Amino acid sequence: MHLTRRAFLGSAGATGMASLFGFLGLELKPSKAFAAQATPVRGRITSTICPYCGVGCGALVTACDGRVVNVEGDPDHPINEGSLCSKGAAMIQIANNERRLTKVRYRAPGSDHWEEREWDWAIKKIAQNIKKTRDASFVTKDAQGRVVNRTEGLACLGGASLDNEECYAYSKFARALGVVFLEHQARI
Ligand code: SF4
Repeated sequence: MHLTRRAFLGSAGATGMASLFGFLGLELKPSKAFAAQATPVRGRITSTICPYCGVGCGALVTACDGRVVNVEGDPDHPINEGSLCSKGAAMIQIANNERRLTKVRYRAPGSDHWEEREWDWAIKKIAQNIKKTRDASFVTKDAQGRVVNRTEGLACLGGASLDNEECYAYSKFARALGVVFLEHQARI
């Protein structure tokens, strides 16, 4: 058998790499997807969007007995098609975390400490403050006498986790108030 130098080195390299992968415990053959081997988790599944970054990957959250028991990428979501980065894959830690705040914390103007409040109280307080600020800052005409009907005392900032429909509803809400300073996290 005639063996050229190039063929010998190529063969030795392939054999050496295969041995090295074997030594390291790595399998070169196609492996089965982990999800196909995992034990199914039982519970109510809800689809949601990862809250971390502007990519907006879809996730499936499984909850059982009031507790999140599994989070995985949504295979039907057009953005990530089932995958999640390491941060998104760890999002179960947001729900199952003893340090998670579950009540509103409020610090009154001039105060040096936080007080615990209920959501109903907080939402009412936010609405009252919006109305108070809007009433105090609303202008119907600008310096040239043109009708503007706007407030420059309020600003609205959208987040990357909002989807198109939520952004649409949010911007309509802001414009209805007369807000002109309407921005989005992704542009800042
Ligand atoms: S899974 Fe990762 S890439 Fe996708 S939205 Fe969350 S943080 Fe961003």
